This record gives sequence, C-alpha cells and structure tokens, in this order.
Amino acid sequence: MNTSLKSIVSLCQQPQGADSRDYLKDGLLFCHKCHTPKQVVVQFGPNVRTENCNCECAKLKWEDRKKQRELRERQHYHENMRTRGIQDAALRACCFEQSDGSNPDNMAIAQIYAATFMEDFYPHGSGLLLWGDVGTGKSYVAACIANALISQGIPTLMTSFTRIYNELFPELDKNKYIDAINYNRLLIIDDLGVEQQKNFALENLFTVIDERYKSNKPLIITTNLTLEQMEHPAQMAHKRIYDRILEKCTPLAFDGCNKRQEKRLVNFAAARQQFAVAKRK
Ligand SMILES: [Zn+2]
Repeated sequence: MNTSLKSIVSLCQQPQGADSRDYLKDGLLFCHKCHTPKQVVVQFGPNVRTENCNCECAKLKWEDRKKQRELRERQHYHENMRTRGIQDAALRACCFEQSDGSNPDNMAIAQIYAATFMEDFYPHGSGLLLWGDVGTGKSYVAACIANALISQGIPTLMTSFTRIYNELFPELDKNKYIDAINYNRLLIIDDLGVEQQKNFALENLFTVIDERYKSNKPLIITTNLTLEQMEHPAQMAHKRIYDRILEKCTPLAFDGCNKRQEKRLVNFAAARQQFAVAKRK
C-alpha cells in the first residue's frame, strides 16, 4: 500500500470525535488541539493495520468523565446509605456545618468523635450517652454524627427502640434482624426511655443492647432520662439495660438537665479531656 492510499484508509478509520482541523503526519491522524496521534500502527503477524486511539486530550476527557461517574455512584451509594441509616427523614439533613451554635461544647466533642471514630472510638466500642431535657438538641447532635460517618462511607444506623421493636416483633428470625442491626459500625438509639414498658419489649431492648455490648461495638443513646434515673431505676429489667449503656457510653449532659451532681460534671470534664487527647493523637 502506498503512502497516499494508507492516508486515505487512515482517514476512513477516523476515530470518534475526529475534527476537520485534525491533520495527517507520517500517515497518522493527529489531534489539532493536543498534537498527539489519534491513530496507532499495530502489527498482527504479517499484517500491519492502523487503529484508532485516544489522543492525550481525549484521554483526559475520558478520565474526567470516569471520575464524574464514580463521584455520582459514590453520592448515590451514600444517599442510599443515608436513607437506610437515618430512619427519621427530618434528621438526614443535620450536619455540623449548619449547627445554630447551641451546645457548642457537646458539638465540639461530637465533631471530634465523628472525625476520629474509626481510629479512636470504634476499636474500643466507645459510645456516647446524650442526656437531658426534651428539646435540648440531643437528636440533632446524634444525627450530625450519623451524617458525618455516612459521608465517610461508615455503615451507621440511627433509629429508635420503638421502631426496632415494631420491626423485630413480626420477624420470625429475630437473630438475623439483630445481626443486621449489629452490622453497623455505629448504632444510635434515639429517645431511649419512651419505649413500651411491657416485659417482652424490655427483653427485646435488652437483647439489642446486650448484643451490641458483647460485640464491643459503639452505641450512642439519646434520652430524656437523668443519669440518676439510669443509675437507680425502679425495675431490675431496666437496670441491666442501663448498666451496660453506662459502662460503654460517655455521658454528655445537655442544657436544661439536672446538673446537681458535681461528680457528673467532673466526669464530663474528664470525658472532654479524653476526647481532646484522642484528637491530638
Ligand atoms: Zn487531543
């Protein structure tokens, strides 16, 4: 094949995105923008052929599209995770960046907790107990942690015991359901203490908390109960639940709660110190 015929054949095999401003050089088509070939000579045994290839700017464009697609897939994955992970739709938008500035101390601790969760807290199964009066922002803070972890791709479930109970009750294979909950790196149970007081409901609550405790995985609890009520509950069924929570979860008091126990304030300060140390590590 002579050179001019080769050129014609080459032009007939123009790659996608060929432009009239592209030019021929040494029998190959070159991109007018990046001046790298859009064709390559390949040899199959005795046969020599000209094949299309991507010039440098097409490669960059392709890489860029690939990155965009991966980003969209990641966002989609996180959105699914968020929908499944934060069951109360109103809490899915809570994030540290949009905090209204209330509870600054607890917010700061929560932010450190979320930022260093996998390094400092998950390995020790360390959780938090956010306690205080109704409307003091406990659920908001817990949801900020949940959202931050989900954005990092960390499986997290924020739910309430009432919801767990309603889903667990009709389940035939309760262990499978509890295992699925426990798969999450962080489990947040919102509003503990408002659940049904019936014995079988408490039994299920105990099973969920106990499984979490035995697998040494972190748990965050929000509750309107006071520490006093959790330390000295009237019923034995409550005591064994609360004992496990108090052992694994650092209490953070929210405004408006009963702060008469000086000892608790000291513990609170110690917990903050501990978190600050964790942050500096
Ligand atoms: Zn190019």
